[in-house]
This record gives sequence, C-alpha cells and structure tokens, in this order.
Amino acid sequence: MAKEQMTPMMAQYLKTKEEYPDSILFYRLGDFYEMFFDDAIKASKELEIALTGKNCGMKERAPMCGVPFHSASVYIAKLIEKGYKVAICEQVEDPKTASGIVKREVIRVVTPGTVVDEELLDEKTNNYLAVIYSQRDIFGFAVSDISTGEIYTTEITGADETLNEIARYEPKEILVNSVAADKLSGQVELRFHIVPDECKDEFFENSLFEEKILNMFGKGSLSEVGLADKPYSVCAVGAMIVYLEHTQKTSLTYINTINTYEVNQYMDIDVNTRRNLEITETMRDKMKKGSLLWVLDNTETSMGARLLKQWLEKPLLNPIEINKRLYSVKELTDNVMLRGDLSEVLAGTYDISRIISRVSLGTVTPKDLIALKMTLLKLPELEYTLSTVKSPMLADMRKNFDLLEDVCDLLERAIADEPPSLLRDGNVIKEGFNEEIDKLRLAMRDGKKWLASVESEERAATGISKLKVGYNKVFGYYIEVTKSNIKDVPEHYIRKQTLANCERYITPKLKEIENTILGASEKIVTLEGYVFEQVRVSVSKEIERLKRAANIIATADVLLSLAQTAYKNNYTMPEISDNGKIEITEGRHPVVEKMSKKTMFVPNDTLLNTNEDRMIIITGPNMAGKPTYMRQVALITLMAQIGSFVPAKSAKIGVVDKIFTRVGASDDISSGQSTFMLEMSEVSHILKNATSKSLIILDEIGRGTSTFDGLSIAWAVVEYIHNKRKIGAKTLFATHYHELTELEDELDGVKNYRIAVKKRGDDIIFLRKIVRGGADDSYGIEVAALAGVPKEVINGAKKILHKIENDEIAVEHTKKEPEPTNQIGFGDGAAIEIANELKTMDVTTFTPIEAMNKLYELSNKAKEI
Ligand code: ADP
Repeated sequence: MAKEQMTPMMAQYLKTKEEYPDSILFYRLGDFYEMFFDDAIKASKELEIALTGKNCGMKERAPMCGVPFHSASVYIAKLIEKGYKVAICEQVEDPKTASGIVKREVIRVVTPGTVVDEELLDEKTNNYLAVIYSQRDIFGFAVSDISTGEIYTTEITGADETLNEIARYEPKEILVNSVAADKLSGQVELRFHIVPDECKDEFFENSLFEEKILNMFGKGSLSEVGLADKPYSVCAVGAMIVYLEHTQKTSLTYINTINTYEVNQYMDIDVNTRRNLEITETMRDKMKKGSLLWVLDNTETSMGARLLKQWLEKPLLNPIEINKRLYSVKELTDNVMLRGDLSEVLAGTYDISRIISRVSLGTVTPKDLIALKMTLLKLPELEYTLSTVKSPMLADMRKNFDLLEDVCDLLERAIADEPPSLLRDGNVIKEGFNEEIDKLRLAMRDGKKWLASVESEERAATGISKLKVGYNKVFGYYIEVTKSNIKDVPEHYIRKQTLANCERYITPKLKEIENTILGASEKIVTLEGYVFEQVRVSVSKEIERLKRAANIIATADVLLSLAQTAYKNNYTMPEISDNGKIEITEGRHPVVEKMSKKTMFVPNDTLLNTNEDRMIIITGPNMAGKPTYMRQVALITLMAQIGSFVPAKSAKIGVVDKIFTRVGASDDISSGQSTFMLEMSEVSHILKNATSKSLIILDEIGRGTSTFDGLSIAWAVVEYIHNKRKIGAKTLFATHYHELTELEDELDGVKNYRIAVKKRGDDIIFLRKIVRGGADDSYGIEVAALAGVPKEVINGAKKILHKIENDEIAVEHTKKEPEPTNQIGFGDGAAIEIANELKTMDVTTFTPIEAMNKLYELSNKAKEI
C-alpha cells in the first residue's frame, strides 16, 4: 500500500505496526483501542467483536475493530491466553495542544510471559518467561517472572534434561534460537502445549550482553553473578534482558538479583514423573484439587502460595538445608499459639511482591500503595510474633528485622486511606501532604459553596422561586428557568440552550465561579499525578528492603502452611540423611487418604536401601493398590525433601537425587505413538538417566506387548537396574509376571512383596496391606466380577481357566494369569484379513446402505473364525 495516499493517521499506524510485526497493535484513538487490517481480522474472530472498516485514504476501507480503553484488560487477557502478543500504542501528547496528528508510541508489549497486570495473572502461580539458547548439546536456560522480579539461570546438557527444567517452571512463553528450536520445539509443543518462539541467532549473540548483565545486576564482573564460565547462560540471560527492555519499555531496576544454579542442586524430576505423581495438578483434569500441592497448600498469602509451589518444583538434596526447613516446621507444628498468631498476622498482608514490581514499572495504583501500607503496618506485629522463635530459619528472619517505618510513614501521610482505583479519579493525595493541592481543594470547595449561594441570591433578585443552578459537560454551569417564568429573566442573563419546558442561561458571575472550580479541579488532577509520581519514586528507592520484607512474609507463610498441614493431617517429622535408606513405618498416600473420606486408608511400611533391599518386586491383583503404594513412597520422599512433614508414623529418608516413575497410563494420545512405544521410550529414559541415588517406580513394564516379550523385557529391566555397575537404584517394581518373583533367589537385593487379598467364596477382599512374599494368584476373574462383567462371561472364564489348569486346553505357556495385554491376539488368518480390510477401506465414501452391507459381510466372516 502506498503510504503517500494514506490518511496521516493511517500512515502513523502503519509505521508503528512495522516495528511490531508479531504483535497485535492496540492503537489508541480517543476512548478506544483500534486494530486494523490483519490484526483486526484476527482479533475480531478471537474476541468475538464486530469487524468494521475505516476509510484510510485508499479505495477500499481498512478492516477495523476496536475495544473501549477502560475495559481493554479483559480483551488483552483473552488474546494473551491464546498466545498472542499485544503492543499497546498510546497517545503520548495532549490532543488539545498537539499540532497536527497526535504523537503516539508503543508504551508496552504484553506477552504471555511478561504480563504484570493483576487481572491477567494467577495470584498463586508464578508467570514465567523462558529463554533457551543452545549450541551442540548444551543449553543456556534463563527464566524470569517480571511480576515478582525473579530471574534464574542454569546451563544444561541434553535436550531431555532441558525438557525437565521446562517442566519445573512451566513457562507461559519460550524464546529459542534455531538449534534449541530443532531439539526442543516438537516435544515442548506436545507436552506443554505452547509453541516456542524461534528468534534469529543474532538475537542471542550480542557483544553487549556482558555489559547489559553487569548493569542490570549492579556487578563488576561475570564471576560476581555466577556466570564467569557459563557462556550459554550469558546468551540466554542477555537475550532475555533485551526482550524485557523491548516489551516493558522501562527500566527494570527492581530485577536486581540473579539466581544462578546447577541443575543437580535440586532433585531431578522428569516431565512424566511430575505428571504421574500429580505434584501440582492432576493428570486427567489438570486441576489443583487432587494434587499434592492441594494437600500441602494451607498458605494465607499468594506470595506464600507461589513460594510453596517453587519449593515443590525444586526439592532439595542437602540434608542440612532440608533440616533447616524441617526444624522450623516442627517449631510451628508444636506451638499452637505461635501458629495462631502468625496466621492472623499473615492473613492481614497483601501481595506486596507484585505491588513492588508495579511500583518499579510505574503501573502501581493508589489502591496498591494502600495495600502496601497495610502490609507494612503488620510488620511490628510480625516481629513481635517471631520474638520467641528458636529454630534457625525463623530466628534468622527476626535478625535485623526492618520495619520499614519510613516507607510506611510516607504512604500514611501521602495517600488517602480509601483512594479510588485510578489516579485520574482524584482524591488520591491525602489532605495535609501537599500545600498546593490543599489550597486548590479549598478553592474548589469555596467555589461550590459560592455556587450554592448563587441559586438563592438569584431567586431573591428575580423573584423566580423555581430558578435552579445546574451543570452539564457542554455548557458548564447554567441557570435554568421554566418557560412560564421567562418573562422575569433579567437582561444580563445570556441564553445558552432551549429545552422543551425551560431555558438555560449563564451570567458573567457564574462563569467566574465556574473557572475557579474547573480550573482548580484540572490543576488538582495534574498536581496529584505529579505528587503521586514523587511518592512512587521514593518508594521505588526502597525496593531492596521491601523485597526482603516480602521474602520474609512468603517464607514464614510456607513454613506455617507446612506446619498447619502436618498438624491437621497427623504427619510426622522425617529423619533426613544421605545414607541411601528409606524406612517408612505406617506410611500413607497424602492425597488418597484425603480424597477417600469414607474408607479408612490402610497404612503400609517400606524398607529400601542401597544393598539387600534395593529392588522390591510387588505382585498382587489389579485393584489391590499397587500404584497407590508406590506413589506413596515417592511422594513421602519428595515431601521430606522440600522440608515437609510426612504422612507416616515414622520416616527415615535418605535423600534421593532423582525420582522416576513409569506408572499407569501416561499415554499421550495426541503424540500418535503407540502405548507400547511410549512405555518403552519412558523406560529407556529412566535407564539412561537413573543413578544409584535415584528412586525408581515402575508399574507393569512390558504390559503393552505379547506375554513373552513383555516378561523378557521386564526381566531384563530388573536385572539392569539391579546391577550396581549399571544403576543400582532403589526401585519399586509392580508386575503381573509372577515369574519375576523367582529373581529374589537369584539376585541379592531383590525382595518380593505382595498386596494381601483374602478370598471368601467367589469374592475377594482387598486388605491393602503390603506383606513379604510373592502373590499366589492374579484373581483376575474375581476382579472382573467386581467390575460388573456379566455373570455368564465370568462363569465362562472360570470354566476355561479350569480347563487350562487341567491341561485340557493347550496353551503356549504354563502360567495361569490372564494375558495382561491390550493388544488383540490375532492368531488367525481370517481375522488378519478382516483387520486388513477394515484398515484399508475408506468409510467416508460409503453410502449408508453400502456400509450396512459391508458390516454384514464382515460380521459373517468373523462368525466363521
Ligand atoms: P490398582 O492399580 O492395583 O488397581 P490402585 O493403587 O489404583 O490399584 O488402587 C485401587 C483402589 O484402592 C483405589 O481406589 C485406592 O483409593 C484404593 N487404595 C489403594 N491403596 C489403599 C490403602 N492403602 N488404603 C485404602 N485404600 C486404598
């Protein structure tokens, strides 16, 4: 489109749009944000708003749609949720004083990973942006949550490990270079349902990165920020800073510390295990309810809720660090008064972490500052509550406790106690804080009083008793006289408007008062804006201290939450060591015991170590509770390593470096891989990555193929994991293959267990107790009966089983358990023929009658098999 023919506005629009090709441009026009061309077509569809057109100087009108500026955040939220970026282009000069077209600039680009608006964020979850830069097989990985000012970075070897790290944070937006895109994008899309943004390599390789990083974190050398020998991290962090500057268009001084860590500093939990163990959400519905987080989260504040989630995402490995947390949880669990007091103080605080960021970004509202003040006012009480604590972590918080009285005092003096949400609504600055504002307010009040007296004075002077003074936006203040009294209107009244029953006038005196009132009110708005900005700047200078206070509140809240959970659910303090032993007495599954209120949860013991009890083989029928038991062991270990008490009578936990699970159906149908392929690729991942310090949980390995294949694979997997020179990890292995119980005699370190059931007549009773020894029976038919399979089929199955047992039917293998396979056992040529025919036919071309005929034909063939 030739720009010369464009209207000036459209030319300005197109020039701006050129700079933001990948964002939807919200272009401010009066009280609306307008979108044009492709943006308008896309947005009108996504937002379900009308698509219109605007004359842009060309023959054809430009497609256009718009949203009112005051409700824009709802629309922005919708677009962000769908993965779009929104560039907000504002008028940056006063239209009244502008000569020519009003100057406009993009003031911020909102993207899924850089959202800071309160309405667009989930208060209990961090909102992360990840930047990943890779060369060869090394990945520089950086994540930030700019709504709270956190930034983390690490270097990772291998795409699998990088995926695990992504799973830890679940970023809302990911930027990658081309190498990282090749290695990760497919898996990221499949597993996390977001499409990484592939940026040009130049974006990640910039000689200015070092300087930018040092500037941002106020340090003199890369070694001071822990990045001396981390060139990949430098590229990721540098690119992240550039992107944040590009989107936020403001200084990000509040993001002034970087957390550089090693992946092996925390327990490694791979993507599947995170899903399988339902740590922060359930596998099926992706709901918090039913997850471990749901049980553990008794936090009072959103800062605490987010930190608890972070602790769960990063379980610790160092027993000293874990114990530090545990001692504080113990102190709180043991002291009901302390718990009560702390919970009361914390309940009165607000999300100052995000408010602090908004202070820094300049988007803070008057109400935010009051919330900040209310929180700071709680600090003396918090200090007092902590005055008697003894455990190191809580006691540390009390040291050099900063009450931030100066900031609190400033906010108390400057901001009205109940300010409006928006600055421009006025009455934000408190009486007595700024002399000029007070004077103007007085003038306004006087003017209003004066105005009130005009009405009575004019009534007296004219004798018109129904004369009224009113106001409208177009004419300002006026005197209104009904038609019947017009004859008494004095000469100096100037007529302004005629309505059906009345006339409206102004007088010079009225205009004078009006100028005072309106002039003062306009000045007040400007002045309030100026003073508010000064207050904001003063507060933003104290960011470091405010962040520390936010951190104390969040940490105290997480410790308290863990204590409340421990107390409510009767948990016990685990004994932490690094001797590799896991000994749990009367352990329970934290979530299942909570969910099944009606039935009593049956506790079970566990003994695992690095020698004679390192591989536990569990047999027993379906429905007995094998996965529940195995998950319970993993969850108890995980809970212990975040510093939580655990659901058990007693627990000794030797820290594990990684947890792996291959439990139940984690089958991702959308991946297009078969169940068996997926199962095997998960097993292969475990075999490649587990160490002697890991905990592995495997359920029904080999189930997805024929019995002999499956059994052989399961057998070999057990041997491989068991072998100390290969892995030697602590393992719980549930299986249908009773043959595997023979391994107990062959390999030391293997122990057989079963989940006990009792047979009574045709019924079986699940005792839910784990006991030594292999299972004697699969009870498959009994379980099928329990599941409601028709009696006729059950009886049929019993007869067949009886015949097999008495060798009346020849089967290839002698074990009697039904084949636990979900493949169809096509052994017959006719069946294969039918299957092939079904596979190749194009049903969509059939008429209904043809379909009927074909079905009839196939059905007859099947009957002959
Ligand atoms: P499986 O996969 O062997 O069928 P699950 O572990 O899924 O077994 O458990 C089956 C059912 O038994 C679940 O509904 C679970 O709630 C219940 N269950 C499992 N273990 C226990 C236990 N220790 N106490 C009480 N109920 C249990």
